[in-house]
Amino acid sequence: THFGFEDVALGDKQGRVNEVFHGVASRYDLMNDLMSGGLHRAWKSALITELNPPRSARRFRLLDVAGGTGDIALRTLKAGGQGVHATLFDINPSMLEVGRQRTDAAGFGQRVDIVEGNAEELPFPDASFEAVTIAFGLRNVPRMQSALDEARRVLVPGGRFFCLEFSKVDMPVLNRVYDLYSFKVIPGLGRMVAGDGEPYRYLVESIRRFPPPEELAQMMRRAGMSRVSYTPFTGGIAALHSGWRL
Ligand code: SAM
Repeated sequence: THFGFEDVALGDKQGRVNEVFHGVASRYDLMNDLMSGGLHRAWKSALITELNPPRSARRFRLLDVAGGTGDIALRTLKAGGQGVHATLFDINPSMLEVGRQRTDAAGFGQRVDIVEGNAEELPFPDASFEAVTIAFGLRNVPRMQSALDEARRVLVPGGRFFCLEFSKVDMPVLNRVYDLYSFKVIPGLGRMVAGDGEPYRYLVESIRRFPPPEELAQMMRRAGMSRVSYTPFTGGIAALHSGWRL
């Protein structure tokens, strides 16, 4: 049995998403490694390489939307120089709490702001960030176009947006394997590690329902982003989209 997401109103969707992440926050990083077989690490590394934070003291303010436990913020701070500042932004206080512990433990407390809120309505003035990222977050946001509009609004002219997200597998054999994996293995792992498979079944659904790469690119252009491009990773299991505010 699936959650039947098509029938769930947008407000209910957010409520359910919040329950899922509240429930798994303390085990989120472990689940991520198990479910992606560690692949999410390679995809995140590729994102940081593209983001290319300055190694100098030049100011570089990153907003990581749906930043959860802080992977992207931490990696950006580690890769860049003293001018890098990260705002870890998420709707879920349980995920942010783990993020705060991790960034403090890594010694970056001074250069991280933790802000709770909704990606659909960012509590920041226009043109506040050199870069905005959202990794495995957009598919959870009920009004995706609003989240993209907002990302564009808070970027400085010349700033860059990245979305890393699961995508459409475009290889026939991998496709079958991936289907089996998503519908059998992932809920099973969820049951074992988090005690409940149902939330993971929901996450698999949300991946199926996410727009294919060209459609997402079109939504980014609609949000006013320029030079939009994307790169598929691992046969299309994930994709990295990029757009500029010019
Ligand atoms: N970016 C992190 C990473 O790559 O590991 C976390 C990704 S996690 C799969 C998705 C995150 O999206 C959760 O922390 C969840 O709370 C957050 N989220 C869901 N809906 C949101 C919304 N409307 N606004 C902001 N964050 C949201």
